[in-house]
Amino acid sequence: RKIFTDFPICGTFELSADDARHVVLVLRHTVGDTIPVTDVTGTTYECFITRIEGHSAYLTPAKKLSEPAASVGTVTLAAGILKGDKFDWVIQKATELGVSRIVPVQMEYCVVKLDDKRQKSRLERWQRLALEGAKQCGRDDVPDVAPVMTFTDFVDAYADRRCILPYERETAPLSEACRDVRTGDVVIAIGPEGGYAEKEIAYAGQHFAWCRTVSLGPRILRAETASLTALSIIMYERGF
Ligand code: SAM
Repeated sequence: RKIFTDFPICGTFELSADDARHVVLVLRHTVGDTIPVTDVTGTTYECFITRIEGHSAYLTPAKKLSEPAASVGTVTLAAGILKGDKFDWVIQKATELGVSRIVPVQMEYCVVKLDDKRQKSRLERWQRLALEGAKQCGRDDVPDVAPVMTFTDFVDAYADRRCILPYERETAPLSEACRDVRTGDVVIAIGPEGGYAEKEIAYAGQHFAWCRTVSLGPRILRAETASLTALSIIMYERGF
């Protein structure tokens, strides 16, 4: 699994407790060994383990192994929050598929309504899942999980991006809109279990600079299936 830091590497640093445990106890590395570590900028360094004290490990960068990969733009997945642990699954799978950012959105027909306290604890959990997912699949960065937003706040914040909006009542296929989202910063917006409210569709259409409602086929997909289907197709079109 990959080791990440949430800061730029520029000198000796301490690994997180979780990574130190993995490196020292599971991989049985010792002082003098080198391991690759990717920092918050996506740059990977070969690092010497210079000190181990109890459960803490200190590393010093020896040489740069790779620069951040050139990007054709970012893909943001905005999705209505889901009941139970379904949103956890969306976070894990979207991370594996290479999403840059996930925005949990409180929509009109969401079954769950999270108060401030639960939003905070869920956000911490989702951010942890994104970090774990990134380590597990070996990507060079960790997707950002944004705080829960209302639908209108989400649209206003991302209004300058192109938005693909899978809508259960639409018939125009996603394949036709794909050619316009092969590069650049793109948002995919998925409704919750209860689907989109008509006023949400209208608001998105009026406020996004570019917005296409699309069909994902003749069957109604579960919200989590719809997220991963749209994301997989768009990542494929963009060359992953
Ligand atoms: N309650 C809605 C209904 O019965 O019509 C279904 C909502 S669906 C479970 C959740 C979300 O997934 C939708 O709002 C939409 O964003 C997406 N979705 C599911 N199936 C879709 C399809 N065939 N085409 C486009 N979007 C779809």
